[in-house]
Amino acid sequence: MSGQQAVLRIPAGTSELKEVSIQPSVIVAGDHPAGLLMAEHLADLGVAVTLMVPFPTLEEVVAPYRVIASADESVAGLLQEVAERVSQHAGITRVTQADLVDISGWWGDFSVQARIGEDLKTFHTSGIAMAYRGNPVDLPGIPVQEGVLPFTDFLSGINLQTGALAGKAESPKQVVFLLDAGERDEKWASVAAIRVGVFLKRKFGTQVFILCRELKVSVDEMEQDYRAARESGIIVFKYRQTPRVEKGSGGLRVVFEDAAAISSHGPSEITLDALDVVVAQERLGLSEDRAEVLRKLRIPLEDGVAGPNNPQFTGRTPKKGVVVAGDAWFPEYPTDAAMTALSAAQELYKWVGKGTYQVDAYRVAEVDPSKCATCLTCFRICPHDSIRVERYGERNVYITQGAKEGATWEAARVKIETCDGCGLCASECPAKAIQLIYYPDMEVLDFLAKNL
Ligand code: SF4
Ligand code: SF4
Repeated sequence: MSGQQAVLRIPAGTSELKEVSIQPSVIVAGDHPAGLLMAEHLADLGVAVTLMVPFPTLEEVVAPYRVIASADESVAGLLQEVAERVSQHAGITRVTQADLVDISGWWGDFSVQARIGEDLKTFHTSGIAMAYRGNPVDLPGIPVQEGVLPFTDFLSGINLQTGALAGKAESPKQVVFLLDAGERDEKWASVAAIRVGVFLKRKFGTQVFILCRELKVSVDEMEQDYRAARESGIIVFKYRQTPRVEKGSGGLRVVFEDAAAISSHGPSEITLDALDVVVAQERLGLSEDRAEVLRKLRIPLEDGVAGPNNPQFTGRTPKKGVVVAGDAWFPEYPTDAAMTALSAAQELYKWVGKGTYQVDAYRVAEVDPSKCATCLTCFRICPHDSIRVERYGERNVYITQGAKEGATWEAARVKIETCDGCGLCASECPAKAIQLIYYPDMEVLDFLAKNL
């Protein structure tokens, strides 16, 4: 039976609810504006929020998004004053120049280690929200060369008054946005390219070309944005093979087969020459140290972000009491990232916001301490990190749930608030020391033998 998962559910109507106290406190950490939105939302709901940002001021969290905010009123509306509001919010404790380096414990009882400047400090909290920006990991299919910039570097490098990029005196005359070269289907760059492209064209007279595989219209008002792009003279091409980017006369050159021409009149190669800058949609992923914090919590990452594993549960992770937003969840356009952030904050509020939580004692595992050999199997296998076997030091001995009053044992202990009743530990325990309450272990095994 080893390796099979107990998937039993108790009969309908059987339950015994226990009230568990939870401190309504959370730590929100990160460098993405989604963190500010989560902090504000939770604090407005009465949760004690500690906000950690890696910069000296909160303004630096929103600064890289100011070009998009200039081009898009809905983003401006979201970001314009959030840093200021959060800086003054009485329900938020702000810790600047701080980064999470380690998290341990459970929902309701997390221990968080943060680097603050040069020092390491430990915090205790009931829930954790992380909102990180993605770092450019690579430019899929496009060799890095002078004049080629990852999209996020381009956005954070423009001078809003002059349109010039960092280190340049003038705004670029011709820009290509090269989208969709990677495998991951992301729409954030398409939306940003269209809206920022119109902004650049109207404000600085920049000639903008957008090259993509697909036009994305699944965002509110995107049809109007494409119309605005056409009216302002932005040219959009669809390609099939990733375009070639090479040195040309007076700047960069981009060469590609126009997909529209391929379908109607046979292949047609197009060359865009004398380009000042090619803005390439990069693959965004978490930095290794931040990814490591998530992995240690057993939050799986796919292609450097957490979202693809849980697309239907926005911001939610397999670790109870931990939510993720920003590019750490999935690279999204700021208005979509804000929706993810609010949904994640709502999820966290559900777990920790009310001060108490009801646990159904019939749906949790229980260790018989007299049988436990403290072998650590259940500790390693529990997907919710709900079992502890602290074999060394004073906390080695427990008054274990289910033991007679006054009796103490060395044994594994289930944290019933976080146990999901999945039965994995019961099916793997070599000493048969774990039962799902109500169904004795032998009944679980019988059931599995008959039904799997
Ligand atoms: S798997 Fe069983 S014997 Fe091993 S620590 Fe867990 S409860 Fe004890
Ligand atoms: S302790 Fe609970 S959540 Fe963890 S493996 Fe056992 S039944 Fe599943």
